[in-house]
Amino acid sequence: MERKNLITFFIGILMGCSLLACQSNASEQTQTEQADMPVVPAFCADSSYAFIKAQTDFGARVPNSEAHRLCGDYLVATLERYGAQVINQYANLRAYDGTVLNARNIIASWNPASQNRLFFCAHWDSRHICDEDTIVSNRNQPVMGANDGASGVAVLLEVARLVSLQQPHVGLDIILFDAEDYGHGDVENSFCLGSQYWAMNPHVSPYNAKFGILLDMVGGKNPVFAKDQVSMHFAPDIANFVWDRAAQLGHGNVFVPTQGGGIIDDHYYVNLLAKIPCIDIIHYREGVGFPDTWHTTNDVLENIDKNTLYAVGNVITHILYESR
Ligand SMILES: [Zn+2]
Repeated sequence: MERKNLITFFIGILMGCSLLACQSNASEQTQTEQADMPVVPAFCADSSYAFIKAQTDFGARVPNSEAHRLCGDYLVATLERYGAQVINQYANLRAYDGTVLNARNIIASWNPASQNRLFFCAHWDSRHICDEDTIVSNRNQPVMGANDGASGVAVLLEVARLVSLQQPHVGLDIILFDAEDYGHGDVENSFCLGSQYWAMNPHVSPYNAKFGILLDMVGGKNPVFAKDQVSMHFAPDIANFVWDRAAQLGHGNVFVPTQGGGIIDDHYYVNLLAKIPCIDIIHYREGVGFPDTWHTTNDVLENIDKNTLYAVGNVITHILYESR
């Protein structure tokens, strides 16, 4: 994605931007079984971590690569195994450098007939170049994307596993956007090609949902998730609701209730083009920027923190199962 500060956001342009046992979280279910509170299944960080490893084991998932194709097949098979109806949305998308990307948005739906639905989304591709690496000779390597891409997908795969065990009250779509990260900071709208395509060509028409939540870089160390300016412009009620719930669940140190950067991520195009409110949970600290591993050779599994996966997964699992 690219990043914009508030001023440039409104006037135009500044680019920047095997299941494992989970006893440790088991108490959560007991806690939520009281009174008329819905039973919220326990999000398992170990499981979501394993879903990151499964993706990075393919290698960097750069569009047009074999690793990308095979990982896409893995994601579809996994989502179908968890009971989703899956649509592959293929599109040839032209990148800033003229490369035609064989892109594949993956949309997994549960209870697709329901008009009362939410969606969660993430991008599943990884970037073609480590152009933020401090070592110049690394900058032509692809990004492994353990955090930038795989972490959001992994949290959503764990949610999919929970949904296979316990249906929420609302319909759910998990949308995995492709070709998010094959952009150039100086070329407007060159990031988020998959979400731009989906927002103009939804997988079913008309598509509607109450709101959506985008996850991007949700597995790093020392995270800060602030309310980014695009989310607050298009969907302030949703952002406030999610951050308030996060604080109630004990994640207020991670979901900080301050304004974040102006992030042009997939949610921007969902809001702008599909006109469905969608917020972004993304690691970005105002004045510091994205995490140190961003678009570098350090964006690898060893730099993932399970506590971060848990905080985000715990929050969105509650949002899903508490929705009526
Ligand atoms: Zn990226």
